[in-house]
Amino acid sequence: MRYPHLFAPLDLGHVTLPNRVLMGSMHTGLEDHARDYDKLAAYFAERARGGVGLIVTGGLAPSVEGWLAPFGGRMSMPWHVARHRKVTRAVHAEGGRICMQILHGGRYSYHPLSVAPSKVKSPITPFTPRALTSRGVERTIGDFVNSARKAQDARYDGVEVMGSEGYLINEFLVERTNRRDDDWGGSVEKRQRFPVEIVRRMREAVGRDFIIVYRLSMLDLVERGQSWDEIVMLAKKIEAAGATLINTGIGWHEARIPTIVTSVPRAGFSWVTRRMKQEIKIPLITTNRINMPDVAERILAGGDADMVSMARPLLADADWVRKAREDRADDINTCIACNQACLDHVFENKRASCLVNPRACHETELVIEPTATKKRIAVVGAGPAGLACATTLAERGHDVTLFDRDADIGGQFNMAKKIPGKEEFRETLRYYARRIEQLGIALHLSTTATADALRGFDDIVIATGVTPRGVSIPGSERANVVSYLDVLKNGAAVGRRVAIIGAGGIGFDVAEFLVEDAPSPTTDIARWTREWGVDTTLDARAGLVKPAPEPPERQIWLLQRTPGKPGKRLNKTTGWVHRATLAAKRVTMLGGIEYQRIDDDGLHVRIGEETQVLPVDTIIVCAGQEPNRALHAELANAGITAHLIGGADVAAELDAKRAIAQGTKLAATL
Ligand code: FAD
Ligand code: NAP
Ligand code: SF4
Repeated sequence: MRYPHLFAPLDLGHVTLPNRVLMGSMHTGLEDHARDYDKLAAYFAERARGGVGLIVTGGLAPSVEGWLAPFGGRMSMPWHVARHRKVTRAVHAEGGRICMQILHGGRYSYHPLSVAPSKVKSPITPFTPRALTSRGVERTIGDFVNSARKAQDARYDGVEVMGSEGYLINEFLVERTNRRDDDWGGSVEKRQRFPVEIVRRMREAVGRDFIIVYRLSMLDLVERGQSWDEIVMLAKKIEAAGATLINTGIGWHEARIPTIVTSVPRAGFSWVTRRMKQEIKIPLITTNRINMPDVAERILAGGDADMVSMARPLLADADWVRKAREDRADDINTCIACNQACLDHVFENKRASCLVNPRACHETELVIEPTATKKRIAVVGAGPAGLACATTLAERGHDVTLFDRDADIGGQFNMAKKIPGKEEFRETLRYYARRIEQLGIALHLSTTATADALRGFDDIVIATGVTPRGVSIPGSERANVVSYLDVLKNGAAVGRRVAIIGAGGIGFDVAEFLVEDAPSPTTDIARWTREWGVDTTLDARAGLVKPAPEPPERQIWLLQRTPGKPGKRLNKTTGWVHRATLAAKRVTMLGGIEYQRIDDDGLHVRIGEETQVLPVDTIIVCAGQEPNRALHAELANAGITAHLIGGADVAAELDAKRAIAQGTKLAATL
């Protein structure tokens, strides 16, 4: 057994879990509508079949006030129970176990009925909450208990009480959000009564043989958050009140320190639970950026926790646990922590899915079935679109030939993986390389496909990607003007002072590549926590100390023509991290630029009425892309039809999420 600690059973008294993997709570959007519960059941059933020890659902509100958003998922009325039985029945039929998370949004609720311990607005929501009255506090505790009883009626194996990330319970715990002077505020003891009473009364109501997981904020990462002593005190009280397991939350949503994005080191916060382990007796669950079995095993073997929570990795691969148990870690489709199809979707009110697995949360709709007619199919281009298409076609039983003119598979992911903090992108390439081998796909690398070579195939898929857009500024033909491709792919030399033309995702990535010397802090927890100002000694309140970024390797100007600060169009849950990273490295980010000319003095620009010369050695063009359809046009001239996917189809606003989804969906139909 390769991972003995990960696969050691965990005895919870009335029940024994088969392994140490908890599928952490993750809002999918399917919880919000009764009509989607068959889909939700199929989604969880697939993960239960994959062998997850214990599943936790996305958050369900215990009341209308606690809704995260209007008409969000709720478990408070008798008629809510039946839809949940579909979920529990499906999970139990696969031999799995599942807890329902109870989440009261508090001041993070995105509606005008929101409530909180005090009338203090959050910086990330537009609504000012109403302060709960003392009776209101009692009623809210009752709502939590009622919700747990309903979960029991729905045959859940237990509940998780969401006490972290800055939601209602967490808001009770600190003066920052709790200014009360009644029995629920004014001292640490009184502020802690709210969660303790919830767990105590819940245990009384549900009896002994029902799991209560309490998600405890172990590091608030916001000013005037809890001290470590207060957190330990609360953990002990929660244990005494009857919790079965303590799970971990890191950082309030309003914290300005990243906690789960791809640039956070793997297992970047398990040092926190290591300290807590010494303080409590009930099993402790650790979390954040754990995505591969060796990481999980190391944490458990080192005594940092009793269980590991993973949410996104199980979106990415429903069979993660089974593959780990069978010592097939190389077969895992690894979560790259991009947030692009999961958290970003949730924040945009769209159904969650996964960039590397578009079937996630679409299990009943995107079905990959064996083909009735085996065909010989050529796929040209082994970037994300072509890889997804080729492997799905082969899974269905087609005879697939894959061409790429480069010496490696991966297309633009080979550049993305070089960006500091995007090391995880390598895993996707490892996964696809393995699938190509397992599925017997005929792979022709270093081969530029031509119309002639493609004759005789039953079907042809063109996934030839994009061509970088050039610029025509006077002087742009000079040798010191290069494209991102020259820098990231071909290793072009870059001076100490650099202007980047174009501040989209790639412009930001190139800037991060140039300010950071390899290896990146993502590979080193001590360096990363120092850079962001996280106190690993736990002496500082809320875990915050002054950030100490390392000096930048270069002086950079990141430019765009659109007025306003660059980076506004970056992804919702990760854009702020990129902006903060570059700000810490003193990158000058300018909008409203008119490029005038390039000469020996540098790049001449106009901003409003003012002209300036940026005294740079190198100018890097990151001005977007055009579709590369040369081969498609050649085929059309020869009278051969072919399917277009990925950047070759539409280059504007292309990302790997669209490329992989489009490739997979086409393959499901051919
Ligand atoms: P490509 O990846 O461009 O692949 C096309 C392939 O076709 C190439 O391998 C090429 O060699 C091959 N090819 C072309 N013509 C021929 C021919 N005639 N014969 C044989 N082979 C041919 N996206 C995200 O979603 N998230 C990110 O964080 C992210 N970061 C990025 C960072 C960087 C630095 C870069 C450059 C891109 C990033 N992207 C990101 C964008 C993402 O990589 C692209 O959207 C994605 O790669 C597009 O996939 P594709 O398969 O359509 O094209
Ligand atoms: P992009 O996001 O479209 O940005 C292109 C940039 O070039 C813009 O800032 C644009 O700004 C500028 N530009 C466009 N035409 C120009 C011209 N003729 N002259 C000068 N400037 C010009 O494209 P990208 O940065 O190349 O990224 C490509 C895709 O990869 C994106 O769609 C993105 O989704 C994906 N990607 C995603 C991530 C991620 O982290 N999620 C990271 C990297 C890439 P102005 O027009 O204002 O000057
Ligand atoms: Fe992980 Fe990205 Fe998939 Fe979310 S979308 S589960 S972060 S790979």
